[in-house]
Amino acid sequence: MKAAAFDYIKPDTVGQVLALLRQHGDDARLLAGGQTLMATLNMRLSEPALIIDITGLAALRGIELRGDVLRIGALATHTQIEESELVARHAPLLTEAAPHIAHRAIRNSGTWGGSIAYADPAAEWPACLLALGGTVVVQGPAGERRIAGDDFFTGLYSTALQPDEIVVASEIPVARPGQWHGIAELARRHGDYAIVGLAASAQRQGAVLSAVRLAFMGVAAMPWRARRTEALLEGKTADESSIALAVASLRAEIDPLPDLTNTPETKRHLAGVLLQRLLASARA
Ligand SMILES: Cc1cc2nc3c(=O)[nH]c(=O)nc-3n(C[C@H](O)[C@H](O)[C@H](O)COP(=O)(O)OP(=O)(O)OC[C@H]3O[C@@H](n4cnc5c(N)ncnc54)[C@H](O)[C@@H]3O)c2cc1C
Repeated sequence: MKAAAFDYIKPDTVGQVLALLRQHGDDARLLAGGQTLMATLNMRLSEPALIIDITGLAALRGIELRGDVLRIGALATHTQIEESELVARHAPLLTEAAPHIAHRAIRNSGTWGGSIAYADPAAEWPACLLALGGTVVVQGPAGERRIAGDDFFTGLYSTALQPDEIVVASEIPVARPGQWHGIAELARRHGDYAIVGLAASAQRQGAVLSAVRLAFMGVAAMPWRARRTEALLEGKTADESSIALAVASLRAEIDPLPDLTNTPETKRHLAGVLLQRLLASARA
């Protein structure tokens, strides 16, 4: 199929984008990497009258260290994140997560901001944002505001972003000494969206875990944190008995949605397998 006819505009500034969003409302869509939007246009799942190409906005580019946060511009591509030395040093979970996203050709175009704004519950970046306690920086008519990742995702493909706002960046707290992180996924083939995935982080003092964050992808309508299991792991060492307790807690806590080929029971089981594997790596 081909996309329905639309007008196209490529502004130079965020101010111009905001004015266009104000003027056209829901008739307009932002175009970043196009790796999701173009498919929805071509399948006519979306028929906007106007496409606003934001790839010319210099203010949304780049990855930089600002004090104790790593600021990732909305237009940073998956590949730029994957290859960034700053990311490898200060948010290494993202470096490890990037190769799980689709294939190289898609990672060369797809952007951080597009993934965060689209809020696919099976996508890697939203889960990593939650695992690392990151914040989404958005800009609208009233200026810039910061939304904690935990408050940003509100439902299936839904976020706290208002129709007249744009994602400009995210801020990720830089990894502190002793921070442990991990990502694990089960997918049918490499590059597929995960059936179930888990991005996790914690502080480790000796072998004792604290500030545990377990963010799952592919189990709920949005990236989902296993808060009861996180609390159970607080102050524990990742020994065999704690791991067994955590896996049992998770399987009681989680209430996965099925997908086309996997039942909730399968996903519950797989989520436990991933948690077991990651916590075993935390012990190592
Ligand atoms: C075959 C295939 C496999 C894929 N596999 C995976 C995978 O395994 N894991 C994964 O995470 N992703 C996967 N993706 C999706 C990919 O990561 C996309 O790049 C990403 O979801 C969207 O980013 P984009 O820059 O391409 O956004 P676009 O497609 O340009 O836009 C997506 C949506 O976000 C909005 N948007 C974009 N930028 C902004 C912004 N700055 N502010 C507000 N709204 C904005 C757009 O208006 C649109 O509604 C896959 C895609 C394809 C085609």
